[in-house]
Amino acid sequence: MNGKEVLKVNILNVQELRKSFGKFDAVKGVSFSVEKGESFSLLGPNGAGKSTTINMLTGLYPPTSGSIQVTGVDVINNPKLAQKSIGVVPQEIALYGALSARENLKFWGRMYDLSGKALDKAVDEVLEIIGLTDRAKDKINTFSGGMKRRVNIGAAILHKPEVLIMDEPTVGIDPQSRNHILNTVKSLNQNGMTIIYTSHYMEEVEYLCERIGIMDHGELIACGTLRELRETIGDRSRIIISMDKGFSKDIEIGSLIKNLVLKKDVLIKDNLLTVFHKEPHLVLSDLIQLVTKTGTKITSVEIVEPNLESVFLHLTGRSLRD
Ligand code: ADP
Ligand code: MG
Repeated sequence: MNGKEVLKVNILNVQELRKSFGKFDAVKGVSFSVEKGESFSLLGPNGAGKSTTINMLTGLYPPTSGSIQVTGVDVINNPKLAQKSIGVVPQEIALYGALSARENLKFWGRMYDLSGKALDKAVDEVLEIIGLTDRAKDKINTFSGGMKRRVNIGAAILHKPEVLIMDEPTVGIDPQSRNHILNTVKSLNQNGMTIIYTSHYMEEVEYLCERIGIMDHGELIACGTLRELRETIGDRSRIIISMDKGFSKDIEIGSLIKNLVLKKDVLIKDNLLTVFHKEPHLVLSDLIQLVTKTGTKITSVEIVEPNLESVFLHLTGRSLRD
C-alpha cells in the first residue's frame, strides 16, 4: 500500500487569496490545499498569476485578502515561523557570481542558522543531490544558467524543508540541466518532501505532479489529478488539421461539419482546425474530405491524446503558450 494514501495530513491551506496591484487584480480569490508528501502544480500561461500566488505563499508579498497556513502556521501573521518549514526557489536567480558554489551554499546555510560541521555536512549532501560536487570550488560566474538554477535549488533545501516551493525552475535553461532538475525534484518528492511547482510546460507537470491547479487571469479555473482533469474533457483526443490559410469568412465550418461532430467540439483559430473527439479514427477521413471540399489545402493532420493542453484549450479557447 502507498504510504501517502494512509496518512493524509494537510500541509498547505490557501483560502480566498487575492492580490491587487493598484486597480489591477492579479490574483482573484484562489483556494486550494495540499497534503503532506504531495506534488502539486500551478500550471498556467505567462501572466496567469502564478508568481504572485507563490510570493504570497512564501510570505514575500502580503495578500490583499485571504488566508494561508503552512504546517498549521499562519503565513501572514507569522511569516518567520512559517518560513522555517519552506524552501523557496524563486523565478529570479540570486547568487554571488564571484563566490564558488560551495561558498554560496554556505552563505545560504548560515541564513538558516546552520554552522560548523552541520553546515559542512548539509552543503556536501546538497551538492551531491544537485549533481555539482565536482564543480563545488568553481565560481558561479563560470556556470551555465542551468547549473546556477541547480545551486539555487540546493540553497532552498539546505535546511531540509517540509515544503519545497519552486517557481518555473526550468525556464530558459539547457535540456540537460532541465532533465537533471526534474529528476531531482521527483526524487525529493519520493523521499517525502512536499512539492509546490509552477510551470507553463504541461509535459513537466504531467511528469512531476499528482495534482494540478490550472490558473488563468488570476483565477484557479480547474483543479484535480491528471485523470480528473482529463475527465472534464470526456477523455477526448484532439484532431488538429493545419491548413495553408484560414477558412474564408463565407464558409461556416461549424454547420459544414455538424453532421459529423458537435459544434461545441470544434475550435478554429487562424489556419488551425481543432476537433475534440473520443474516437478520432471514426471521423478523420470524413473530416479531411469536408475540409478539402472547401478548396482549402491541408498541410498536416495530427491526433493528440487527451492532455493538459487539451484541458486548457477546452476551458479557455486558448493554447497554454499563446
Ligand atoms: P505568472 O507568474 O503566472 O506569469 P505573475 O504572477 O507574474 O504571472 O503576474 C500576474 C499579473 O500581475 C501580470 O499581469 C503581471 O503583469 C501583474 N503583476 C505582477 N507583479 C506585479 C507588480 N509588482 N505590480 C503590478 N503588476 C504586477
Ligand atoms: Mg511567473
